[in-house]
Amino acid sequence: MARYIEPVCKLCRRENEKLFLKGERCFTQKCAFERRSYGPGQHGQASQGRGKRMSDYSRQLRAKQKARSVYGVLEKQFRRYFGMAIRTRGITGLIMLQILEARLDNVIYRMGLAPNRAQARQMVSHGHFLVNGRRTDVPSMVLKAGDTIQVREESKKNGLFKDLAETAEKTNCALWLERDLKTLSGRVLRMPDRGEIDGNLNEQLVVEYYSR
Ligand code: SF4
Repeated sequence: MARYIEPVCKLCRRENEKLFLKGERCFTQKCAFERRSYGPGQHGQASQGRGKRMSDYSRQLRAKQKARSVYGVLEKQFRRYFGMAIRTRGITGLIMLQILEARLDNVIYRMGLAPNRAQARQMVSHGHFLVNGRRTDVPSMVLKAGDTIQVREESKKNGLFKDLAETAEKTNCALWLERDLKTLSGRVLRMPDRGEIDGNLNEQLVVEYYSR
């Protein structure tokens, strides 16, 4: 399973905004963007082109890269999601975002069962979750309304999950999801509305990027 392995804080610095990819650390002074709010690399500040007018292509590219960074998806898969969205009746940009939101790793994150998507992805890869009662290790699995997820009984003894209910209680569960912290389980109630998808994303520019 291919995944992004560079330091993720570089992604925030490249987009010139905090993408909150690391959970708690993002809210502390240790945040790399708080300390160096300019682009990564030797010519980071200059190459960002801050103060310069961006071309339409640059804006579309940056919007696409930002959405990819937020959901932790590589280019090939991201393009595949766009393809799925364009073949579905409705507003392409919104459908693409709904597909990204319905990924298993994102659902776990939105339920508050993981501090960030990267950790949710790892939990799934290690086989700690059941989807509709069946064990899965595929974080990119796209869920639909009515699907249930649950931490495996064997995994609940794992140190990772021992204090999870307590930690998760301090976090919110997205309104389009339902969770039960006693059993460490949850359900997809429906797909999210646009207003329920945060991350300051511009899906229209992403659609324009792939429609060139
Ligand atoms: Fe981005 Fe979080 Fe790293 Fe800050 S700590 S740069 S918000 S990923």
